[in-house]
Amino acid sequence: MVVGLIGGIGSGKSTIAKALQLRGYAVYDTDSRAKEIIVSDAKIREDIIGLLGEDAYQGNVYQSQVVAQKVFADRSLLAKLNAIIHPAVREDIVRWSKHYEDKICIVECAILYTSGIYRLCDKIIAVDAPENIRLQRAMDRDNTSVSKVRARMRAQEDELRMQQADVVVNNDGKLSINDICEKILQSING
Ligand code: ATP
Repeated sequence: MVVGLIGGIGSGKSTIAKALQLRGYAVYDTDSRAKEIIVSDAKIREDIIGLLGEDAYQGNVYQSQVVAQKVFADRSLLAKLNAIIHPAVREDIVRWSKHYEDKICIVECAILYTSGIYRLCDKIIAVDAPENIRLQRAMDRDNTSVSKVRARMRAQEDELRMQQADVVVNNDGKLSINDICEKILQSING
């Protein structure tokens, strides 16, 4: 069973995903895995260079800043880049989850909807917290400014489809991460 775990910046989805992993659940960290695929998959690399040019990579290092500058200046390039990366990540998730057969497989992903990964999920859990708390957490964690975090929040707006989730858990600090994990597991098993 594939369970999607989504939440806006600073909601705490990575913290919750790690806590579930410590309890022995299989967790797929989409962001890190996508970064690995971008570097290790020769076809993906070739397609990205074809789209964005040789400077998308320096040796084995993906030049994410260079790429970000190119694709944010031209939205059609972003769509094309996503069309290269997202299907590869979806295929990777399908392969990964097959190892676990009927067990619970948790896919942590900030862009569950844009990437189409939501279509692979049997259940979707959304992690939420009030905006001011998310803002403060992200600023503290990344040592960054209000405006930078707000810009990332705006870029993610389309992903915050709480009504599409099967369960929304509130990680505003009132419940412990342990209790939130319990709630999630109950809702998955229930
Ligand atoms: P992003 O999408 O930016 O990666 P995220 O949803 O994965 O964000 P986390 O990285 O898990 O968020 O959490 C953001 C910060 O908030 C981290 O420093 C984490 O330790 C902290 N945090 C998460 N949950 C809580 C909580 N319940 N109480 C206090 N701090 C928390």
